[in-house]
Parts: sequence; structure tokens; C-alpha cells
Amino acid sequence: PLPTADLQALDAAHHMHPFTHGAALGAKGARIITRAEGCWLTDSEGNRILDGMAGLWCVNLGYGRQELVDAATRQMSELPFYNTFFQTSHAPAIQLAARLAELAPGDLNHVFFAGSGSEANDTNLRMVRTYWELKGQPARKAVISRWNAYHGSSVGSGSLGGMKGMHAQGGMPIPDIHHIDQPNWWAEGGDLSPEEFGLERAKQLEAKIQELGPENVAAFIAEPLQGAGGVIVPPESYWPEVMRIVREYGILLIADEVICGFGRTGNWFGSQTLGIQPDIMTIAKGLSSGYLPIGGSIVSSEIARVIGDAEFNHGYTYSGHPVAAAVALENLRILDEEGIITRVREEIGPYLKEKFESLTEHPMVGEASIVGMMGSIALTPDKARRAAFRGEEGQIGLMTRERCFANNLVMRHVGDRMIISPPLVISKDEVDVLIARAWKSLDEAMAQAKS
Ligand code: PLP
Repeated sequence: PLPTADLQALDAAHHMHPFTHGAALGAKGARIITRAEGCWLTDSEGNRILDGMAGLWCVNLGYGRQELVDAATRQMSELPFYNTFFQTSHAPAIQLAARLAELAPGDLNHVFFAGSGSEANDTNLRMVRTYWELKGQPARKAVISRWNAYHGSSVGSGSLGGMKGMHAQGGMPIPDIHHIDQPNWWAEGGDLSPEEFGLERAKQLEAKIQELGPENVAAFIAEPLQGAGGVIVPPESYWPEVMRIVREYGILLIADEVICGFGRTGNWFGSQTLGIQPDIMTIAKGLSSGYLPIGGSIVSSEIARVIGDAEFNHGYTYSGHPVAAAVALENLRILDEEGIITRVREEIGPYLKEKFESLTEHPMVGEASIVGMMGSIALTPDKARRAAFRGEEGQIGLMTRERCFANNLVMRHVGDRMIISPPLVISKDEVDVLIARAWKSLDEAMAQAKS
């Protein structure tokens, strides 16, 4: 391999990074990751970095699982590609669909595959509208989503998402997508109790449906537990009220499980942890532990029946890609047979929660919000008032993230919240390392902010 400096120069000269200011690459150069094992990354200078984010919330099994490599190799030699369009199929896609139908809650039992979470949410957007068209209610086009949600980066999924920075660029959102607020009590709850606030935010959905006219609304989409928007656990009153509203108005519910799925919250799906009964679930990331790109939509028998009675003019070359599907199947087998999700629920999740919540003893940490293996802490100059830092939002978060990275820990920041989402296989000792490095980085960022 080329020397680090040469790679960094070529990277800055030729490689466009997602969600990255070009100047940042030129100034400092990217850190070049060369290998990974378990929860640890190695960079080109030999540093070992604890990956508190499981890549991008996806390497649920951890790095270096030979079984996944073998599954890919076997499938590559037998049938590296064939499509699932028209009337052809192959065993990996069939068996993966059948396994997902077994695992999914309720009567979600048909799978439409995609190459990523973004593609799957584009499928969902078209599928719910097509469903209502086929049911003779073509006016039902509106899809309601939430500000600060992340549902992907394609034009459809980016419009479904509620990231204002994304909407400011490139002509999003497309028409007929509407947003309501997230239940972020820490930042926006004011004097209300979390439960009152949760109800109030759920009722925004009802108000939006009434404003648009229920006969015009196709679906509501939400992550069971918001991820890239800051990992904020909703008050307990929130989801039951949302469920009442979607059922009362006959609106389809899409649960975006791209982060929450495959064990992250201590069950196969976040919907099970948070008591949600969706009509469609978006899946990706942890489906293959990120080893190969694959995503999809798991839909109810009713939706599959209505859509299947017509030709749904939609599909991707890599829908159900055999190698990705074979790796996903093997990933699901290991998650199951090694009891990894039970361990999240009963052992490592509670341990992580206790340790993570101890960070609230740090003077700059206001609250910790964590379910299973995804959590965040709110940084604040004044805990009692739940105050935000003055100046540009996210500066302290960015500083803390940079200190973490310098201390060989990957944590992410969203504004002034710091996030973790480690591989599900993290050990207790590794959790201790994560917390110690986070604490040290918080100290350093606080000192830097004061100077
Ligand atoms: N939905 C959620 C909740 C996500 O977090 C993401 C990615 O982070 C996506 C959808 C988009 O998935 P992908 O990046 O695979 O397109």
C-alpha cells in the first residue's frame, strides 16, 4: 500500500466523501483505516481505535467474522449474480425472505429487497401510494414524517427525512411530504413532564392528518428510536398515542428499522422493543452486519396481496443480490445461534446502560438516553436549565468528537449530543474502555471550550 501521506493526498484530490466539507479533508487529511477485528479498527499508522459506532451503526456482529467471508465466497463461486425480476429467483433471496418473514412481528411476511436503506425507503414511498391507488383511493398521496429524522440520501428518502441541511440542497423535499416535530423532551419539553410532552408531540400527528384531510394521507414513517437525529428515547406516552392515531385514521405505518433492527435495541426489531405494530418495516445495515450492501422492505400480507394483484413497476438490479443475501442469512444465523440479541437484552445492554448513564456525573453532561446498544448524551453548560451552549450549535459536540478520535475512540456527534452504537458483541472490558475514553475526551473538550 501507498504511504499514509500519499493516500491522504490522493483522497483529498480525487475522493468525494459523503457529508464532509471538502476543506476538512485538505487541511487534516482523512484517517486511513486498514483493518478491523471485533470492535477494534486499525489505522495506517498502527493505532487501534475502539469503534463505538459499529461503522455507521451497522457492524452488529463486529468485524472479522470468517463465517460471513465464507458465505460470500461460496455464493460468489456458485452464482455471483442473478436478478429476481420477472419470474426468476434464487435460493439466497428466497431463504432470506422466508427467514425475515419468520422474524418480523405481526403479519409482516413479504420482503421487497433493495441495495440500501435509502432505496428501501424509496420503495416504501412508491409502494404505499401505489397501494392506495390500487385500492381506489388515489388521493392518498401525503406521507407524514418527522423533522430531524434520517431516512436516506436519495431524493425520495431524503425528502422523507427531516434534515433541514439536506433539504436546503438540491430540490428536496419533493411534493406531498409533510413533517411534524420529534419528541425531544430534553431540548424542547419546557415545563411539561416527559409524559405530557410525549402526548403533545404525538397529537401533532393527528393535527397534521386533520389539516391535510385523512382521505389524502397515505402513511406515517418514523424510526422506532431516532438514530442520526440524536438517539432520543421518546417518552413512554408517545408511541401508544401514535398507534391509536394511525389506526383511527386508517393510515399505514412505516417503521424505519435500518438502525434499530437486528438486535440493536435488544429484540430483533425496535418495533418490538417500543411496542409498535407497523405495516411496513425498512431494513438494511445490521441485516448483513454491513459486510455487504443490502436493504429491503418487509410488508404486511394485506399490502403484499394488493401490490401483488398488479405489476409494481419498481425494482433494483441488486434487489435480493445473491451474495449479499447469503451473507445476510449467515449473519442472522449467527445472531440467533450465539444468543447475541438475548445478551444485548439481558447482559451487555444493561451493563452498557449503567456505565453510560454514569457519564451524567460529568459536569458537561445533562442527560443520557439509551436503549439496548444505542445511546446519546446531551452536552450542556447548565444541567438544571437543560440549557444549550451559546454560539453555533454543535461546536462543542464536534470538539468532543475530535477529542474522542484523538483518544482512539469513535463516537459521533449530532449537534451537541454525543452518540454511541457499538458492535453488539462488545465485551464488558471494552465498555469500560469506551466510557473511560469518553470521559477523558469530555474533560479535554470542556477545557478547550473554556480556553
Ligand atoms: N434509515 C435510517 C434510519 C438510517 O439511519 C439510514 C442510514 O443511516 C438510512 C435509512 C439510509 O440507509 P442507507 O445509508 O443504507 O441508504
